[in-house]
Amino acid sequence: MNKFLCAVVLVALALPAFSPIAAATPVADNDAAYLALGRVFPEPYECVGFVTWNEFQSGIAYLESKFPDRLKVNVVGTSVGGHEVYQVEVTNEKSATPYEQRRFLYFSGSTHGNERGGAEGQMRVIEDWALTSDPAMMKILDNTVILFNFLNPDGWIAGDISQGGAMYNRGNDNGVDLNREWPVVGWIYGPYSPLSEPESISMYANLTGRVASGQKFYYGADIHGMLVDALDAALAMDPGYVSTLKQSFVDVMMPAGEYTFREMYKQVECAKTVYNALYENLSGSALEQLQSITGTEIKPAMWGACWDALGYTDSGFMGDWLTLHDGLNLTGLDYELMLSHTAPNNVWTIPLEYLHVQSVRTIINNMICLSQTDPKPWVSLPGKVAYLEIPRIAGRDSGAENSTPYDVCPTDFMADLGTFATQPIVPVKYADIVSGKAKIEDYTSLVIIESDAGKDAKYVEAVKKYVENGGNLVLTDGATTMLSALEIVSESDITESPFYAGYIDIQDWSDALVKEVRGTARQTYEPVPLGFSILSDESPVWSVNSDSWTSKGGKVVGTTGGEESATLGWIKMGDGNVSFVGAVLPNPIEDNDHPYGLSSYSPTYSGYQIMINAIGGTTIMNYTPQQNGTNAPDGKQGRGFLGLPGFEASVAIAILAFAAAGKINGAKTKSKSGKR
Ligand SMILES: [Zn+2]
Repeated sequence: MNKFLCAVVLVALALPAFSPIAAATPVADNDAAYLALGRVFPEPYECVGFVTWNEFQSGIAYLESKFPDRLKVNVVGTSVGGHEVYQVEVTNEKSATPYEQRRFLYFSGSTHGNERGGAEGQMRVIEDWALTSDPAMMKILDNTVILFNFLNPDGWIAGDISQGGAMYNRGNDNGVDLNREWPVVGWIYGPYSPLSEPESISMYANLTGRVASGQKFYYGADIHGMLVDALDAALAMDPGYVSTLKQSFVDVMMPAGEYTFREMYKQVECAKTVYNALYENLSGSALEQLQSITGTEIKPAMWGACWDALGYTDSGFMGDWLTLHDGLNLTGLDYELMLSHTAPNNVWTIPLEYLHVQSVRTIINNMICLSQTDPKPWVSLPGKVAYLEIPRIAGRDSGAENSTPYDVCPTDFMADLGTFATQPIVPVKYADIVSGKAKIEDYTSLVIIESDAGKDAKYVEAVKKYVENGGNLVLTDGATTMLSALEIVSESDITESPFYAGYIDIQDWSDALVKEVRGTARQTYEPVPLGFSILSDESPVWSVNSDSWTSKGGKVVGTTGGEESATLGWIKMGDGNVSFVGAVLPNPIEDNDHPYGLSSYSPTYSGYQIMINAIGGTTIMNYTPQQNGTNAPDGKQGRGFLGLPGFEASVAIAILAFAAAGKINGAKTKSKSGKR
């Protein structure tokens, strides 16, 4: 146990814990109690324990009776233990906007029953929106349906002190983890067998039924808790890290899947927005109290890919399914709240639970706010881009009944990117490069993904001539072997090695290939959507010997698994340039269980940004496509993926202010500006 974990265990003992009295959290479920408490679910500073299952049931029923035009309590199913799986809808029932045409949002709290922060926060957020008379928020309720879900009553009741419960449970009464239960595309760990439990089956039926009836989902999140931040993963990647232990109170995590450029843009915009808002809302005495007790610096938040943030990933995550095209097809993130886990479990500690509730408020309210916007970014390119066609992979998992068929290819990444680009991005055939029919000299960039077809002399000669005459050649993954065909390095300088996931440690942050890539990011592609298992290291990464590369005048921008293995770099050749990315768009594999099909590509936001940089692209807004074939960007320069969102500022400010206010004991939570 490390020093910080020891300190964490002391938190429950050192903070002013209260002895919870049965059914005295308190929660108001009648007019007299409501008058006395001021809220149905009072703020953490006025509570002495976690909301019990019975209190939630009577409290939410009372809230619905008080605000019947705002709230609808659905029971979507029954848990293994025989308890209701609740879904609370918040919208303006009387709005003129037809129900099916509203913007739907999905939130799940405490899917893991021992991670109470999500559910505690959701109850307060539901009440905030039921109570509001803020015009901006009311306007949102006119066209938005917010679904708050409580998937795991069994794990909750197990720790209810009022019912003699000893500890909250992670799983349901079958001991099954409900966050490994979702039918995600790609590798599925056999024993998980998604949709095996009544909770996930009923929630899945509810949600897919909504989609089938025409409801469109916009934003959503699965809000979890962690013991502490994954130190190894987070700290090792933080260039600013010196020697102080640093923790993040909230890990904001990107999902894994096949996302279009605009979908990825929205995820990044959302992560950045929530991250900034957490810095605003979590700074103050509660966080300082936690820091002084643990003797540890705790930052309000970090954001990144799941593996970058947590140090692991897995198959069957609900948060991933929410974002998939065959799932809810929404912009989604997962969140981990610190110390909302096996410790402190059902021990109520006020500053900590205050921080959990404020985190959930900040997360949900900012996502609701973003759901009112519809950014349409474009990739501005200096010229036309060609990419080499390679064989597609089509089939289905023969080991599973009714498995989903697929027809995938990593070059779909280029084709899809072309949908949002200011210049054409087109496929060219190998034979047409050999014959000259492809006229590759007309393209600013030529992208070769995976193909190792670089041994045909005519093909190699054509590509070489293209570069020497000023072309920009981009090689990714297996196509890195082309570097030996072009006689830049020898065949023995190029290596394929398996890793947990595709990643690149950036060595030179000033290089144009990593422009806009964040300092804490290293993962470049997600393994699971492509069928790679994480039980052993399977994700391919192609590298070039760094010494050989630099001796030929090449520039090493990033490495993987040691400085001798260059996985990102470029070299001048004649009037042109050759760059390579060793881990970004590998072919999917069919060797493992993949009952729900495979994805064509799964770069993280870093992988995306590196590819856009490699073809000289810039993210812009306000671009109008031209019909006459003279496409030229007329939009103002954006700030790349990391640019701030363009949503309506007035709505945003109203919501953010609301999120920060709460009804909190001012003396205990006097806030001051947080430093980044
Ligand atoms: Zn969890």
